[in-house]
Amino acid sequence: MSMSSSATPANFQLSAPLQESPLTASTALSSETCAAGEPWMGRVKQGQRFRIVDLEGNQAVDTIFYSAADPSERYSPAETIRKSGQLYLGLGSSLYSSEGRIMATISADTCGRHDTVGGACSCESNTVRYAMDKRPMHSCRDNFMTALTMFHLAEEVGLGVRDIGANINFFMNVPVLPDGALYFADGISGAGKYVEIIAAMDLIVLISNCPQLNNPCNGYNPTPIQLLTWKADHA
Ligand SMILES: [Zn+2]
Repeated sequence: MSMSSSATPANFQLSAPLQESPLTASTALSSETCAAGEPWMGRVKQGQRFRIVDLEGNQAVDTIFYSAADPSERYSPAETIRKSGQLYLGLGSSLYSSEGRIMATISADTCGRHDTVGGACSCESNTVRYAMDKRPMHSCRDNFMTALTMFHLAEEVGLGVRDIGANINFFMNVPVLPDGALYFADGISGAGKYVEIIAAMDLIVLISNCPQLNNPCNGYNPTPIQLLTWKADHA
């Protein structure tokens, strides 16, 4: 897939409808901060709501969901785009697994644009897209590999580096141009914007709080995110 960094698509600011969540942080079961550029792993049970807050704005959050019951079943951008008929994720988007099942649905969103085509940054992509001397720079793939080797949860459920698949880039604005190229646009997220999902199955969530410094996806300044979980409505 070709990359474009010069053309500016006319629709690059278009976004999905916005909707605030009725939930407040004070009633959350858990609330954690993931530092700038760091990975995170955790569980979200069926029916629970999980919110990612872009604390300072313009921060891409690379995310992969796995079925906790069988982690070989994981989030699939291809299934999600095919079943929804939409290239971008937003309010109401269902997130499908490699088995074609709904893993989660976006239940609240104050940003309006999330990418699931651009993939995670890596030393290889940094080299191809930018320059050979960008190879040692910290990347999301490094974060995923670190999380899967360092977090006890990964060992507990049997997840390893071979399980790294395609991901969602929450808060990242990557319009697809008419010629099919991807455009890494400046983000439309801002401080305090958030996206919230409701889990349709027990999930393992793997996150890289993107450390990328070579394109505007993090405003050239990676920043922390907040991760909150609320109990299921019926619990
Ligand atoms: Zn990244």
